[in-house]
Amino acid sequence: MTNEKAFKKACKFIAGGVNSPVRAFANVQSKPKFISKGKDAYIFDIEGNSYIDYVQSWGPLLFGHCDKDIQKACQKALKNGSSFGAPTLLETELAQLILSDFPHLDKIRFVNSGTEATMSAIRLARGFTKKNKILKFEGCYHGHSDSLLVSAGSGATTFNSPSSLGVLEDVAKHTLIAQYNNIENVKELFEKNKDIACVIIEPIAGNMGLIPAEQEFLEELFKLCKANETLLIFDEVMSGYRASYLGSYGINHIQADIVTFGKVIGGGLPAAAFASKAEIMDILSPLGGVYQAGTLSGNPLAMAAGIASITKAKKKSDLYEKLGKLAQRLTQGMKKLADEKGFALQVCHVGSMFGYFFNKDRVLNYQDALKSDLKLFAKFHKNMLENGIYLAPSQFETGFICSKMDKKIIDTTLQAVQESFKKI
Ligand SMILES: *Cc1c(COP(=O)(O)O)cnc(C)c1O
Repeated sequence: MTNEKAFKKACKFIAGGVNSPVRAFANVQSKPKFISKGKDAYIFDIEGNSYIDYVQSWGPLLFGHCDKDIQKACQKALKNGSSFGAPTLLETELAQLILSDFPHLDKIRFVNSGTEATMSAIRLARGFTKKNKILKFEGCYHGHSDSLLVSAGSGATTFNSPSSLGVLEDVAKHTLIAQYNNIENVKELFEKNKDIACVIIEPIAGNMGLIPAEQEFLEELFKLCKANETLLIFDEVMSGYRASYLGSYGINHIQADIVTFGKVIGGGLPAAAFASKAEIMDILSPLGGVYQAGTLSGNPLAMAAGIASITKAKKKSDLYEKLGKLAQRLTQGMKKLADEKGFALQVCHVGSMFGYFFNKDRVLNYQDALKSDLKLFAKFHKNMLENGIYLAPSQFETGFICSKMDKKIIDTTLQAVQESFKKI
């Protein structure tokens, strides 16, 4: 079957043909490839084309496709059964593995998706502080729960508005929106609102393209939260075990009150988590009054994949340095080629994460990111795909390096960049 036929058929039975909107390639005015298999740094579509994969399942695959150790761990777990809805030793093992590296996190709860992790973290923060409002940043994505699908109202409006149909204005009005990397804006919101339960942020934003928060901004944010008895939630669903082994904590050393994890901690299977101090975590049901649950939470296959993945990352002391160097080689190479061609390109990398904007100015927040040349991006994406390079089909996403990549793969990619720049 061709990709085109597969998509047609999928559209007949699945809403929009996909189970997550970005996969439809609508942002680049194109159609998706249907993937038949992956191997190391590569994926293969059903027509037999191969691609160097910089999406890596949107982050989880730190060790690329079909990593032997992760595969073995899953197979071993599967032999004993795929789900019990009762505790297993694997859950405690992964919990200990994660928590032992973070002095500010005592306890954890596993869930199935990043959406659940942030949703539960917010409920926990509200339950603990007995406050109502939450503050998030424009352009940060924390999954698709109601109170997080909110965008900033125009200057004249008092309340923010839902960014999806089906989200109640009554829910959206409890979500305040601030500009990323703009501490004055956060201060203003704190002055006007005494009822903020938590501030949630991607400390290394990866969902509006890659935009790391500035160190001073995060430090000020931490202080503001402390002064206002507001909990600080670092959403590290993407940056955890990606930006560095300790995620943003390994870079900015800021101890958020609650940290959410996802993506890499499931090693390619559905797992995510939220963690905090015992005092906060112990108000979760069954010990306390904040309800949170999940039939498949802590699933043994996902835990086994997570343990294999995190153990491997922990063992290889030079892993992140190596991935970072490759990310740097790629982004600096792209920048050089863009300069030669006269394209304005902004590039960035943090550990194994990389980003690029077709933008003439430095990008510090969502408004800056929006000024990127999306038409040029779409053309670039299409040409890269034709040249065998699979990039995220949107300007507002992050790229990922996996451990199976090397200089040769990066240089092959740069060759494709050069050819694509020639054509656009
Ligand atoms: C991917 C992501 C989520 C949502 O996770 P899902 O597993 O897709 O629900 C939340 N926060 C951040 C920062 C993410 O990158």
